[in-house]
Amino acid sequence: MKRYSRFGTISLFLFMAPLCRRIPLKYHTPMNILLASTSTLYEGNYLEYLKDEIKTLFQGIDEILFIPFARPGGISHEEYTAKVAVFFEELNIKVRSLHEFEEMPEAIQNAKAYFTGGGNTFLLVKTLLEKNLMHFLKENIETGKPYLGTSAGSNIGGINMKTTNDMPIVYPPGFECMGLVPFNINPHYLDPDPLLKHNGETRETRIQEFLTQNDIMVVGLREGNWIRRIGDKITVEGSQMTRIFEKGKEPYEIEAKTQIG
Ligand code: ASP
Repeated sequence: MKRYSRFGTISLFLFMAPLCRRIPLKYHTPMNILLASTSTLYEGNYLEYLKDEIKTLFQGIDEILFIPFARPGGISHEEYTAKVAVFFEELNIKVRSLHEFEEMPEAIQNAKAYFTGGGNTFLLVKTLLEKNLMHFLKENIETGKPYLGTSAGSNIGGINMKTTNDMPIVYPPGFECMGLVPFNINPHYLDPDPLLKHNGETRETRIQEFLTQNDIMVVGLREGNWIRRIGDKITVEGSQMTRIFEKGKEPYEIEAKTQIG
């Protein structure tokens, strides 16, 4: 009898343990993500046009973790962090930067929310992959911690970085990104200018070339536009139409608030 009940307890534990590990996943906060084409509009100030959106995204959050690794124009991590901190101070949000931490995975784990700024996507991806941080970030965002990306920081929210506009100034160990949305992004998407006597490839041509080798939807995100993901709902937002590229289809335009993905 005694042997039976001990066996019962053990088997109940063995049965429940995997279930218990799975239960919290069901109750995670929904994903809360904003991937913007750019940080700064023409003649605007840094992040100004996104201020209200950022307030909503980071509602109730008093400190964010900044990821400075893309280093636009070669700016140092310190300078970049200082610039970001000035904007967030207006929102009463403190900025800690990932480069300040010795234990970076722990810093990601302990953060309440994240912002990855723009710059060179190759450098950003190389740094995150070589330091083994990309998957930590992904896991935390997927369990509901808010994420803001601009430009290169948005590229890493896509499936891979193959539709960046950047030059390969460094050699990352891979191109895979976080896949926070089920497509790729082309930020700062630019329409061809028929008056320009320039014979290089248009952005559209380059994206079509990508589609000859990859079957992944590409969202051409014009400046002033962004992607918003709340839970399973993904929409395009902003002041302009968004251009969508899919393998085997003519590119097409969608309006703000259209659901995609
Ligand atoms: N260099 C861009 C940025 O500002 C990224 C891109 O164009 O792909 O982050």
